[in-house]
Amino acid sequence: MQKLKKENIKGWIRFFCPNYKTDSITDITPEFLKSLKKKLLFLDVDSTIAGWNESLPAENIAQWMENLKNEQIDICLISNTHRVARLQNIAQECGVGYVTGILKPSIDMHQKAISMFPVKKDEIIMIGDQLLTDVLSSNRFGIDCIWVKPLPTGEFVGTKVTRLVENVIVGLLKKNRVF
Ligand SMILES: [Mg+2]
Repeated sequence: MQKLKKENIKGWIRFFCPNYKTDSITDITPEFLKSLKKKLLFLDVDSTIAGWNESLPAENIAQWMENLKNEQIDICLISNTHRVARLQNIAQECGVGYVTGILKPSIDMHQKAISMFPVKKDEIIMIGDQLLTDVLSSNRFGIDCIWVKPLPTGEFVGTKVTRLVENVIVGLLKKNRVF
């Protein structure tokens, strides 16, 4: 888990800067989240917990979610997917909440999700794999965010295009010495 030096940057690029980054979602432990006083996870789905063409998360990620729930950390899936039936099935199988709505970086789904749980904004953290959707929406909403490396499962063609823009932003963040 790497804490990014957000204080090093000024201006619009700051909105694309996560608070933390990690290569593997399973490295995010309940102890770490509790040390940050987080009680609720907003969790992206595609390439974060499951490949876009997979129907369910892999066993190790399902187990990771189970561990968090056992430690009283709530989870709400916040997904850009158009396949709502698949999202509902993942939420049901994993025993977590979910929201749908206007696509990220809109904060529409964040607003819906926070209304479902008795928490304050500073008790929430978002986990997602994309700077242009997950990180930008969280910064706009005013919550912390962990940026995870996308799962190696291949991506939807639209995501491949946004990755090109993301790579430019990653270059700018590196130039600002945030990581
Ligand atoms: Mg994603």
